[in-house]
Amino acid sequence: MIKRPVDKMHETAFSKLKRKTAEIVFPSRCPFCKAVISGDKLICDTCTKALPQIAYFRFAAGGIPCSAALPYFEEYAGAMKRYKFGKKSDYARAFAFLTVRAARLKFGDQHFDAVACVPMSERAKRKRHFEHAEILAKKCAELLDLPYIEALEKHKENKSQHTLRRSERERNVKGVYRITDKSLCRGKSILLIDDIITTGNTLGECVRVLKRGGCKCVRCAVTCTTIV
Ligand SMILES: [Zn+2]
Repeated sequence: MIKRPVDKMHETAFSKLKRKTAEIVFPSRCPFCKAVISGDKLICDTCTKALPQIAYFRFAAGGIPCSAALPYFEEYAGAMKRYKFGKKSDYARAFAFLTVRAARLKFGDQHFDAVACVPMSERAKRKRHFEHAEILAKKCAELLDLPYIEALEKHKENKSQHTLRRSERERNVKGVYRITDKSLCRGKSILLIDDIITTGNTLGECVRVLKRGGCKCVRCAVTCTTIV
């Protein structure tokens, strides 16, 4: 079973009552099979047993190493779509746990100074009202006990990568991201988080911009990967 890291040491009687009441009124559900789970769990026992125990390894564009927790197969893609488009924010902890577990398997000996995410454009934020990669990255930062930094912004609109042919994707992401503040990046080793890697062009472009902004080292960690 994968347990929810609730900080019960610092829980008051009132906050415990609030948590227990919320668990009854809005029970936690397993992100993958939607079964009701107790409040201290992130994923049900059956799905936990079925989850891959390995980390997947990909390269983002530019040859940047990227860890991934899950293959983008139907049983996991459904959960990711419910998180992203159904705004199931309570799934973020489970996805962060799996993402961090895979990153630790692949980059265990590596030092990171901070966690960042692949940002959405302002228009996309206004439209969706749910910044899935940012929420995921913040949960990953909590689990890694690292600061989350808003290192990048998406300052230009582009077409959705999934609507384009592979050959068009590299050009589509060129120049759409920029550094927010060079002092956040200079000399830093960053773990860059996103929900999924497909061609790796988006992550690769973000890494390129971060490095031009002064980052010493960038590695990528995602929840899902398409299998290529
Ligand atoms: Zn389940």
